[in-house]
Amino acid sequence: MLTIPKVVLHELAVRQLQVITVEDLSAHMVRVRLGGGDLETLASLGPTDHIKLLVPGEGEDEPEWPVIENGRIRFPSGRRPPLRDYTIRRHHVQSNAIDIDVAVHEAGHVSTWSRTASVGALVGTGGPRGSHPMPISDHYVLIGDLSSLPAVARWLEELPASATAQTLVAGAGPGDEIELQSRASTTIHWVHDESGVPADRLASSLDLLDLTRPDLYVWAAGEVLAMRSVRDWLSDEHDFEQEQVSVDGYWRRGEADYDHHRPLDD
Ligand SMILES: Cc1cc2nc3c(=O)[nH]c(=O)nc-3n(C[C@H](O)[C@H](O)[C@H](O)COP(=O)(O)OP(=O)(O)OC[C@H]3O[C@@H](n4cnc5c(N)ncnc54)[C@H](O)[C@@H]3O)c2cc1C
Repeated sequence: MLTIPKVVLHELAVRQLQVITVEDLSAHMVRVRLGGGDLETLASLGPTDHIKLLVPGEGEDEPEWPVIENGRIRFPSGRRPPLRDYTIRRHHVQSNAIDIDVAVHEAGHVSTWSRTASVGALVGTGGPRGSHPMPISDHYVLIGDLSSLPAVARWLEELPASATAQTLVAGAGPGDEIELQSRASTTIHWVHDESGVPADRLASSLDLLDLTRPDLYVWAAGEVLAMRSVRDWLSDEHDFEQEQVSVDGYWRRGEADYDHHRPLDD
């Protein structure tokens, strides 16, 4: 039986945090641990929970700090500095810290920042606005690229031992593979593309997955055009109920600051 719990909304909170550690996880992934603020009030109830990350502009020591007005984030200067979505990879409740895993790519504001971020650097976060508690199922399929690998890793860690999970992740090469922990019975498929957009390997690799089990829950996230192909393949080849499949565009090639609330076909 598949059960989809209701979204839990949280009051919008803006936090001023500091970098505690920066660690290379793989060839294209940097883990940034952030602490301070009032992180003890942060609620992160599901594997896809994410915050808006606000990092300083080039040559600046700290970001412009926003205020909350009428339930919305507002910047006093009227400018909108770069805000990007990042999964809360882990919430360290005891030590009042969160981990953000940043996929490092060629030309992004946050990606570039993460490569030079130093301990003590100031950053802001907004949210999370809400949590999607994990759907309850016996069988899960998780599909993603490096941008959604932090969420995939969190899904796997939070699954019960009674579940099975098949995972398909695209990276640039074997150096992008990280160890994924789970109590569930897992099968992990890594696919790679060094020269193009690795996520393009996902749709053509879907037959590595066994999608015939009943009550499957399929979650996919990553580059928008690749996610369209994944979604189309899933709907053309399989007879899933709408609630069994969730496909989210996390970024879009050639476009900075992609808004994932836009429809995938926009
Ligand atoms: C709900 C949600 C959760 C997310 N969680 C994470 C996370 O935990 N870790 C993570 O790394 N990303 C995550 N992302 C994706 C991240 O928000 C985007 O990749 C974001 O655009 C990166 O910002 P940037 O400033 O580095 O690049 P931008 O300034 O937004 O983009 C600059 C250029 O880089 C390209 N680009 C953007 N992202 C990538 C990428 N991943 N690979 C290759 N090229 C890219 C763009 O197409 C653009 O041409 C998440 C997105 C969503 C919607």
